[in-house]
Amino acid sequence: MNVTWRDDKFHDECGVFGIWNHPEAANVTYLGLYALQHRGQESAGIPIAIAHNGNLTNADILRTQMEREGAIFQSHSDTEVILHLLARAPAGTLEQQLPHALAQVTGAYSLMILTPDAMYAVRDPSGFRPLSLGRLADSWVVASETCALDLIEAKFEREVEPGEIVAITDAGPESIRAFPAAERQHCVFEYVYFARPDSVLWSRNVHTVRKALGRELAREHPVGADVVIPVPDSGTSAALGYSEQSGTRYEMGLIRNHYVGRTFIEPKQGIRHFGVKVKLNPMREMLEGRRVVVVDDSIVRGTTSRKIVRMIRSAGAKEVHMRISSPPIQWPCYYGIDTPTRKELIGASHTVEEIRRYIGADSIGYLSLEGMLKATGSDPAQFCHACFTGNYKIGIGPEASPQLRLFEQ
Ligand code: SF4
Ligand code: MG
Repeated sequence: MNVTWRDDKFHDECGVFGIWNHPEAANVTYLGLYALQHRGQESAGIPIAIAHNGNLTNADILRTQMEREGAIFQSHSDTEVILHLLARAPAGTLEQQLPHALAQVTGAYSLMILTPDAMYAVRDPSGFRPLSLGRLADSWVVASETCALDLIEAKFEREVEPGEIVAITDAGPESIRAFPAAERQHCVFEYVYFARPDSVLWSRNVHTVRKALGRELAREHPVGADVVIPVPDSGTSAALGYSEQSGTRYEMGLIRNHYVGRTFIEPKQGIRHFGVKVKLNPMREMLEGRRVVVVDDSIVRGTTSRKIVRMIRSAGAKEVHMRISSPPIQWPCYYGIDTPTRKELIGASHTVEEIRRYIGADSIGYLSLEGMLKATGSDPAQFCHACFTGNYKIGIGPEASPQLRLFEQ
């Protein structure tokens, strides 16, 4: 039997990286993308003239309009919509055309565009996805996350601001402010799960924020236990915070195999929990006879959590207490994250008690919305949290793509 490994997480659809004025641009770009691999497990490629992290909420409408006017599209990507808008902008420099084209789109985008004379980095006015500017001797670098700058030993200069176009030429970077200021909508899930823990995002180290999420979780959902273990790697930082705050010992109870691909052939006689076991192995010595707190960052469908709880029990744990360092996910994301439909989200169709019963834990505790926002250490008003609350601020309305409105019920 062919078993496909699905880690039951939301997945970011892309990471972007670009470098200007470097003799080894292709090699350095390859390294940069290596550091950003967690943002785009599905695909990656170089060299490319436009790279896009995000999702436009009115892409279908714009595409249909332009097709009616004769445009021919080669792909289904939102990125091509931007290219067509650029091609139709009044003649001028790209600096003039970019604002004209982007004024028509809504949604999330962190863009890089390369021309023979310049490299442009653009962030949407709400700033959903991260984008950073760095410097490496005479070269300028743009990357989705600062961990990519670290690898190539570039110095972090600053983030590209929401609504900013940075035009990088041989004269250096120049900032263009072409959009009216908008309410910030930083994706809080970047802190919870997407970004690498070693990146600095919105002025804070991601690992530090995740530990704060874990501490807040311990305050909200304490439980008498012998050990705290993470679901590696996504729950590791939060489990450390939970352990620090609760005084419960941190242990490694599950070991992750980092070298597995996506599909496996299961032996004919069948192996219990095979789909998860191939990736995670419980350590009996750490679990047997113990009351165990298991910390993970989120639950999407619940299928993996259920297998993990069973696996920990079958390794001898006396009690299993699931703790989640974000609120129940109840809504899909329209801003560049690959999410299942609402009916597949266990947090949308089940109460917390029903989820506890489904995954088979002795107790379950989700971090509250307030607790999550507090742990960011930033102004809570600047975050998007629509997948937890359904509170979509951008692009969900009569002007949104039909495929988005379908999800609204
Ligand atoms: Fe991030 Fe969720 Fe908002 Fe999407 S809906 S941008 S995943 S916080
Ligand atoms: Mg899309």
